[in-house]
Order: sequence, then C-alpha cells, then structure tokens
Amino acid sequence: MAPKRRILSGMRPTGRFHLGNYFGAAKNWVELQNGGDYECFYMVADYHGLTTQPHARDFEDDLFDLAGDILAVGIDPAKSVFYLQSSVPEVAELFLLFSMVTPYGWVQRTPTFKEKARQQPDNVNFGLFAYPVLQAADILLVKGGFVPVGGDQDAHVEMARETARRFNRVYKPIFPEPKSLSTETPRILGTDGRQKMSKSLGNVVGVTDPPEVIRKQVLSMVTDTKRVYKSQPGHPRSCNVDSLYKVFFPNDWQHYWDLCRKAQIGCHEKKQILAERIVETFEPFRERRSDLTRKEIQQVLEAGSRQAREVAVETVREARSAVGLLPPLI
Ligand code: ATP
Ligand code: MG
Repeated sequence: MAPKRRILSGMRPTGRFHLGNYFGAAKNWVELQNGGDYECFYMVADYHGLTTQPHARDFEDDLFDLAGDILAVGIDPAKSVFYLQSSVPEVAELFLLFSMVTPYGWVQRTPTFKEKARQQPDNVNFGLFAYPVLQAADILLVKGGFVPVGGDQDAHVEMARETARRFNRVYKPIFPEPKSLSTETPRILGTDGRQKMSKSLGNVVGVTDPPEVIRKQVLSMVTDTKRVYKSQPGHPRSCNVDSLYKVFFPNDWQHYWDLCRKAQIGCHEKKQILAERIVETFEPFRERRSDLTRKEIQQVLEAGSRQAREVAVETVREARSAVGLLPPLI
C-alpha cells in the first residue's frame, strides 16, 4: 500500500485562538485528521512568533494556551503529530537551503509582508521578510502535500509550491508540490469590521474564552455603519455580524436577514443572540480545555516533536545530499 500523503499546518502563539483560526483552519485540521486519509502534522509556530515578538518568554503562556485550545477543539495526539516548531530545529537548516534557491523577487511580492510591515513599522526585521521561506521549510520538512489554512496564507503556500518545484529542478526531485486546502469561510473579519480577525491585532472573538469575555467581544463588533437608528432598515449584506450569522445559524440566517431588512431587529439585539450562540457552540471545547493541564500539554508537544523530528532529520539528510554537501564531518 502506498504511504499516506501528508498534511502540515501551524499557528503562531501570538494571542488568543479565535473564530478565524477555528473556522478558517483548525476545523479543517480536525476533519482531515478524522477522515483518516492523510498523515497529519500540526504545530505551534513559535519561530514564526519571533518575527513579531523578539522575546519568546513573552509568548510562552500564549504558546501553551494555543496548544491547549488546539487539543480542545479536537486535535488528537493519537491520530496527528502535534509538535512545537522550535523543537524540530532541522527546519532552520532546510530554510537556509531553500533561501539559496528562492529569488528575491518572489519574497518581495508577498502581500502578507507588506501588511505585517504596516502593522509593526518599528520592527520590520529580515525574519518577517523571509517568513514564507521558513513556511515553505515547515511544509516540506515533513513532505507535506496539503496545507489546510485560511485564505490569507494561500500566497505563501503557492510560494512553497514554487520552492519545491525549483529545488526539485535544480537538484533532485525529492519534494511534493504542496497545495492549500480551504474551508467555506477562508476569511473571517475582525470585530473592527475592517481587517481580518488576527491574534496579533486583538480584534478577535475567542473560542475558549470565558462566556463573559466572548459576550463583550461580540457586543464590541462594528456592525452596519449606515444604520443609525433601529427603526431604519439594516444592510445585512455589508454587515460583519450578519456574515457570522451564516456560520452560526446555517439554517435560519435568512430569517434574521429579513428581520434586519424590515427593521424588526436592532444590531445590538442581533449581537446578543449571536454571542449566546457562540458561547453555546463552543461550550464542549471550553470544557475540554479546562481539563487540560500545562504539564499534559507539554507532554503532548514533547511526544509529537520527537515524532516530527524523526521525519525532519531524514528530510534534511536527503536535501543536503541533493545539494551535494558532504555529510556532517563531525
Ligand atoms: P497573527 O496575527 O499572529 O498573524 P493570526 O490570527 O493571523 O495571527 P495565524 O497563526 O497567523 O493566526 O494563522 C493560523 C491559521 O489561521 C492560518 O491557517 C490562517 O490562515 C488562519 N486564519 C487566521 N486568521 C484568520 C481569519 N480571520 N479568517 C480565516 N482564517 C484565518
Ligand atoms: Mg496571521
């Protein structure tokens, strides 16, 4: 039997795990894991976190929180390899080898670099610029063929694909050409109603946050800016809250849409209803999360990192040999 194809994806420990992370990526991670058709590798991308926050200690709590949340939403260490990026440091060597075959122009054109540089103008470091090259190394280190991510990552996965193609052509065909896999909701807007929901921007609605925090976050959402009074008909088409109704009320969002159009429901009330639905939907995740201790999370990451590392060592050995480097002399 042919070996199963591999999946790789990761998340940065830069803040609270949110609706966008869940509906854009993690939900798919769990489905792919449970479908049993692939060998799944998922990781907490702490090296990537350093591009935003130079002191890893400052995001250590976020790291365990994020890992715990990922386990709570259904990643099962018995079915997936769940690991910590920096505990598999071979990725740094593959990143270096890839950087030699990555044209400057490819990286320069990455849309996310421009966006992140705008978000952190005082810290536009080389790591931020080289981010997609490290991401290509993340994926190809485990020979990932599919990458379940939100829409904002499509350009990066496309670049990983080009990197694999180029490496294979210049040296030897050892890498698959990865493709991204998206959900029906590849881009969830933030509570500001303008930018993508992002951990590092803080414009989030959490998944395992306490109910009172979720309520507050939802009630802070920017809604229909054209509607000043409840007596005016709303414009659900351009309302962020309404797009979340499609996610959380797949069967009766149309009913709320009509009420809004007829000015029979106000934005505040719609947000209250939505908040309760979010709290209720994620209750099982919150429960599972509260059962997990930091020690248990660390043990899962340790075991996963050991498994990922076995694969990584072999890939880097192959890549070095393809490049023509001598095996390490010592
Ligand atoms: P940061 O602000 O640090 O970049 P983030 O919220 O963008 O954090 P990432 O760790 O960069 O989260 O991304 C983790 C996964 O979640 C990726 O697959 C990404 O595409 C997906 N994702 C992130 N935000 C959204 C969103 N708003 N809608 C859909 N998918 C998202
Ligand atoms: Mg991001």
